[in-house]
Amino acid sequence: MLSVLDIFRIGIGPSSSHTVGPMRIARMFAAAALRSKRCADIARVTVELQGSLALTGEGHGTLKATMLGLMGHRPDRLDPDEGEAALEALAAGGELVLGGECALRFDPRRDIDLAGHIIPDLHPNGMKLAAHGADGAVLLERTYYSTGGGFVASEKQLRTKPTDDRVESEPTPYEFTSAADLLALCDSHDRPICEIVLANEDARRDRARTMAGLDRIAEAMDQCIERGLTQRGTLPGGLKVARRAPDMWDNLSANPLSNEREQLFDWLNCFAMAVNEENAAGGRVVTAPTNGAAGIIPAVMRFYCKDGEDRACRDSRRRFLLTAGAIGLLYKQRASISGAEMGCQGEVGVACSMAAGGLAALWGGTPAQVASAAEIGMEHNLGLTCDPVGGLVQVPCIERNAIGAVKAVNAARLALHRTGAESCVSLDQVIETMRQTGIDMSSKYKETSQGGLAVNVIEC
Ligand code: SF4
Repeated sequence: MLSVLDIFRIGIGPSSSHTVGPMRIARMFAAAALRSKRCADIARVTVELQGSLALTGEGHGTLKATMLGLMGHRPDRLDPDEGEAALEALAAGGELVLGGECALRFDPRRDIDLAGHIIPDLHPNGMKLAAHGADGAVLLERTYYSTGGGFVASEKQLRTKPTDDRVESEPTPYEFTSAADLLALCDSHDRPICEIVLANEDARRDRARTMAGLDRIAEAMDQCIERGLTQRGTLPGGLKVARRAPDMWDNLSANPLSNEREQLFDWLNCFAMAVNEENAAGGRVVTAPTNGAAGIIPAVMRFYCKDGEDRACRDSRRRFLLTAGAIGLLYKQRASISGAEMGCQGEVGVACSMAAGGLAALWGGTPAQVASAAEIGMEHNLGLTCDPVGGLVQVPCIERNAIGAVKAVNAARLALHRTGAESCVSLDQVIETMRQTGIDMSSKYKETSQGGLAVNVIEC
């Protein structure tokens, strides 16, 4: 079983599958090359970005992330300004220090191949890296896949289930592979979903470390909102998309006690867009479960747990994240959270489902109501395509998170108003439907920018 702390990864924008994953892969490769060869033997490093990584890689920051990873940077520790400075130095000097140790000549136009015509069978986000000697001979070659949400997998891991880098973990007391299993565990042990998940986390590390990890995630989400509420101007990438969250925040702050009924929408929109505008600008965000969908969970959590210093609120944030994380694990294990595999239903749809479940738990819902909220959150996102204009994580992504946050709250309300009657759609059924829909979806609508809004909207 995966850990909920793997679902929420602190990293940088704009994309978990196209920025965070490739940076982790490139860093792993640099370390492997320096372990197996002497620096003096390595003359050149090349990278082939395949499928979606090539087709939307430019707009999603994949090339930059790859170079930073080769230099040894980690997405969870990198200061975005420090990263920009390192890339400027590389561009000016033409030298890349592999793994922070070994200086090589590097030119992204020559050494990074955008092989969008190669769509690997195992996963559409393939990445082949090679180290070469002075005579051009290949000294080391590895292929990895960025499987969504910052997760990465080797070819061997994808060929032999379990399918990614952290699945082979310690056994946990409450193993579950479906929502039905999870609900049965809650029932037989008379415990809510968050306690079942927490018991599993206890098998991996001390309780205090898990709690500190959850608090760190909540804090990083809040910091991202705060930064997004104060940064003005136009987002990078050429679409000339203006940041809107700061003006919305100013209007709301000027009328905090307004009785306007739709103000709930404004608060959720404002928080979600603050996160996704930060993400689009390459700022620090938390995968929830991906970067493209990173605004929904922080917005809902911030609105319904207002003061992070307050002990009761800190506890409710932990419960929210554990419950939402458990739902995210189900999608990760039974389907996918990658837009390149599932379209946007696998990103914004999953985030909406997770947030709806987390909120239903905070509102005192039973495990069955939590699962019902999660089911509703996905049911009305089925078929949602990924067609980002200009290959950037901006249009439709930023507004889509605002809509997703509002939809999550409504899904939780609908679930809590259920009076005993079982839903005719279970959470497992909707996850399987999402998986099948994702498989059937044309690749044009799976993070390739070859269909939908990406071809019908003329870039500014
Ligand atoms: S459209 Fe959805 S899946 Fe595609 S990049 Fe935007 S948020 Fe991610």
